[in-house]
Amino acid sequence: MRNLIYLIIIFSFACNQPAEKTPITPYVMVLGVAQDAGYPQMNCKKDCCKDAWKNPELQRTTSCLAIVDPISKEQWIIDATPNIKEQLQLLKQKTGTEKLDGILLTHAHIGHYTGLMHFGKEVMGTDNLPVFAMPKMKTFLEENGPWSQLVKLENINIKALKSDSTFSLNDRIKVKPFLVPHRDEFSETVGYEILINNKSLIFIPDIDKWEKWGTNISEIIQKVDYAFLDATFYKNGELKRDMNEIPHPFVQESMELFSELSEKDKQKVHFIHFNHTNPLLIESSTAQKEVLKKGFNIAKEGQMIRF
Ligand SMILES: [Zn+2]
Ligand SMILES: [Zn+2]
Ligand SMILES: [Zn+2]
Repeated sequence: MRNLIYLIIIFSFACNQPAEKTPITPYVMVLGVAQDAGYPQMNCKKDCCKDAWKNPELQRTTSCLAIVDPISKEQWIIDATPNIKEQLQLLKQKTGTEKLDGILLTHAHIGHYTGLMHFGKEVMGTDNLPVFAMPKMKTFLEENGPWSQLVKLENINIKALKSDSTFSLNDRIKVKPFLVPHRDEFSETVGYEILINNKSLIFIPDIDKWEKWGTNISEIIQKVDYAFLDATFYKNGELKRDMNEIPHPFVQESMELFSELSEKDKQKVHFIHFNHTNPLLIESSTAQKEVLKKGFNIAKEGQMIRF
């Protein structure tokens, strides 16, 4: 009899454990964590991608964040990646909402805007989907096919952004683009600050070395609540080509630079945008353990960021 009572108590306790509740204020969801090419990378036969080719569960899509407002049921994504199809499906599964209210673009490298092709008449044929872009990015889309067709047929409606100027997505969500140094062949490159409930998150998927930026990243981390930062490469020598041609802050350099930050500030850092060679893509790798031990975080697909 006593055992039965225990069982009832345990059972009712277990039933009261809430599953991950959907927040009632806007939040951010991670939809992708890899570099532009995704993981595994096309034609890679090396150890880095070997297991991911065999096991789809290990595959990762290109870096992308969603901003979700459960009150108005509005949702936006930052960057239109080559994996947009899977990412919008993931978003729909998680939020129950299919509608997309707009796309914010960071820059004109293949992992960050080519997903726009799905909004043309071959696929969705959307009607004036808002696309937020900086001036050069806007001109690039307007003046080059096939993107110019999306503009001409009014599948997308490009809204020009101004750097360091905050604008509202709705009453509860504000966004601010800011310029960062990167290989700007076709467009400028921006990161975004998302402001919800007096809290903020910065997203910088691509940037050259931190010292090339006129802004002190450590001071920014201290001011914000979350920082999703470029972690394309883990360390120097990871590629067998001259890595100076494709400068990014190595994760090891970033961890060294941020080593003086408090534990609380280190926790805000979420590394993202992993190249296929980056061991942070491999679960329980030495690199993953090192990052977590030092107090930093690693962005995960499906992760929900609360404000
Ligand atoms: Zn990129
Ligand atoms: Zn690989
Ligand atoms: Zn880039």
